[in-house]
Amino acid sequence: MKERVVILGAGESGIGAALLANQKGYEVFVSNSGEINALYKRELELNKIAYEEQHSEGKILKADLIIKSPGIPGENKLIRIIRAKGIHIIGEIEFGYRYKGNSKIIGITGSNGKSTTTALVYHICKTAGLSCALVGNIGYSFARQIAEDPKDVYAAEISSFQLDDIKTFRPDIAILLNITEDHLDRYDNKFENYIKSKFRITENQTEKDVFIYCMDDETIIKNIKNFLIRSNPIPFTMSKPLPQGAYVSDAKMHLKWKQEEVLMNVEDFAVKGKHNQYNTMAAGLAAVVMDIRKEKIRDAVQTFESLEHRMESVATIKGVQFINDSKATNVNSTWYALESITRPTILILGGIDKGNDYSFIKELVKEKVKAIVCMGIDNRKIHEAFGNIVELIINTNNAKDAVQAAFHFADKGDVILLSPACASFDLFKNYEDRGKQFKKAVKEL
Ligand code: ADP
Repeated sequence: MKERVVILGAGESGIGAALLANQKGYEVFVSNSGEINALYKRELELNKIAYEEQHSEGKILKADLIIKSPGIPGENKLIRIIRAKGIHIIGEIEFGYRYKGNSKIIGITGSNGKSTTTALVYHICKTAGLSCALVGNIGYSFARQIAEDPKDVYAAEISSFQLDDIKTFRPDIAILLNITEDHLDRYDNKFENYIKSKFRITENQTEKDVFIYCMDDETIIKNIKNFLIRSNPIPFTMSKPLPQGAYVSDAKMHLKWKQEEVLMNVEDFAVKGKHNQYNTMAAGLAAVVMDIRKEKIRDAVQTFESLEHRMESVATIKGVQFINDSKATNVNSTWYALESITRPTILILGGIDKGNDYSFIKELVKEKVKAIVCMGIDNRKIHEAFGNIVELIINTNNAKDAVQAAFHFADKGDVILLSPACASFDLFKNYEDRGKQFKKAVKEL
């Protein structure tokens, strides 16, 4: 009898897992809590995969194996019932991993910078002519890519939620960019649980693998010794030269691994800001470990364009530059955004606050921000935090008003930066929608 796989959640990862399981001969059933996106539904129907648009326990509990979407918490009622019945639950990346064949995986995690670093790793691999794919939150799910178009190398963006549901998943190269408090609601409000989850990227690694990590991240450094890491550690830092690893010193990036050394002027990076220097060191080290030629690495770093909604330069109107950093949904990313800007700034801030501590960006705001335009339903915390250091703070509740108000306060040579430090769900569908509406409002000025 065929083994029955039930997939919980019909987003990109669930559909990818369903396609792969179907191809591998399982009996597949997809269970989603609500209506499934029409395009995904069509794919299921074309592949004759059964599905439902509300969870029915009876059908779910008949599973031999459950593949759970990372969006579903590990501890809700349904999951508890499944666990109590002793049915194995894994995530889509774990399932994909079982069918990856001889391919290599570069797995990238961290609180901020995952998408950018994953895209850069992919861009370097592509520039070097490798057969590679970009998988995870950007691009296709890992499982779908394996089902439809397997490659030799996968640059995989991996969130902590995905790591929560691995068993044997083992990246050849693991990258841990940073760890700052985020998503604690899913981790019993315990930072240590979230930290553990991030370090699981190394859990199944062996001496043949490498672990690239940021040495300037206090949380990583404080916790690294608590984990049994068998792979070869390679640090990157801005604080001092290293015999092995990556560092930036006198505006030059050095990548050193075994006998190799790659040297590059930071000025030549296509993406700007300190955070991108960190991301580039991490991606560059992965490339050196992969034996990619120096010229190819340099060439790729110089031609890598920043992703949409991440410090994306939208337009310059009457000498005022508009930057869309809508993806900045926590204070830490807004810190890096402000850090990278050298001109007087009008900052568009606000949305749903996930427990922000604004004191972290106070110094930078004092130094660079001449006005704050709040764009959210409840802006009280922003007024409280910055009321006595920024003269102009006003409230808006849509992108058009926010852009117009910001433009009104701006002089030639200023920057208008959308870097909200908050989630977008009070006024927008998601951060992409927020960024798109911002760009539309700019174009309509
Ligand atoms: P993620 O996929 O982890 O959310 P992104 O690459 O999409 O990360 O970037 C999200 C935001 O975080 C961007 O707005 C950017 O300004 C900021 N950011 C990017 N890289 C880093 C980094 N290494 N450290 C801190 N912030 C970063």
